[in-house]
Amino acid sequence: MKQNKPTVLTIAGLDPSGGAGVIADIRTFIEFDCFPTAALTSLTFQNTQAVSGAVNQSAATVRAQVEAIIKDTHVVAVKTGMLPTREIVAEVARLVHETKLTPPVVDPVMSSTSGFELMSDDAFLALKNELLPVALVVTPNIPEAERLTGFRIDNTADMHRAAQAIRELGINAVLIKGGHLKDRKGSGESIDILDNHGVVTVFRDEWINVAGVRGTGCTLSAAIAACLAKGMSLEDSVREAKRYVTEIIRHAKEIV
Ligand code: PLP
Repeated sequence: MKQNKPTVLTIAGLDPSGGAGVIADIRTFIEFDCFPTAALTSLTFQNTQAVSGAVNQSAATVRAQVEAIIKDTHVVAVKTGMLPTREIVAEVARLVHETKLTPPVVDPVMSSTSGFELMSDDAFLALKNELLPVALVVTPNIPEAERLTGFRIDNTADMHRAAQAIRELGINAVLIKGGHLKDRKGSGESIDILDNHGVVTVFRDEWINVAGVRGTGCTLSAAIAACLAKGMSLEDSVREAKRYVTEIIRHAKEIV
């Protein structure tokens, strides 16, 4: 289909209940006036309370979806979400190496808020060693950054140290999301730290205390990809995406 909006691709899992995964991504791409495309990595079974299972795609079916899209559509930006198996992670890395697939915004989704593992241990290793080196930016929350670095992150000084440690894995840029920070309570702030090729930017926004908002990580990384597709710098994309997610959380608080 010919259209003049920038096309963005999500490679992620389907949450049929619409809170997270590709549905959240597509919603976000449309909100940012981009044209959404999606390659499914997994069909999950979940509702607002919990994830009860998943049927994963194969590496070949993920590749077939992506190849068909990029064959006749100019995809300007890509984000990845749930990549459940080592084979799928390696295939996405290969697609970036071998095809014109643009380096992705990688949301290193490891488990659901309710505790369901969305990625196997060997997939995590492949993510770290094969996909992250070709990512445009990786967007871990605190538990994900702890797993990537191997150390505890309790405060913003630790976040800075973690950003540097993750970049030293050979990664272009990292955005550490401070929402899970333990010493955050009382500060009234939500703090994220971007290290883009050694240039560090700290983003501060209001902390809004509301339980049960799902898919904020998916939405943030999708919004970053959409802003990049519209030609914004990585710093401006993160700023705009964070503002957008903060507004979603504010709205959720208003309707509880
Ligand atoms: N399900 C899918 C398919 C996801 O991609 C994600 C997160 O990226 C989740 C569930 C987890 O969402 P939440 O953190 O809101 O539980």
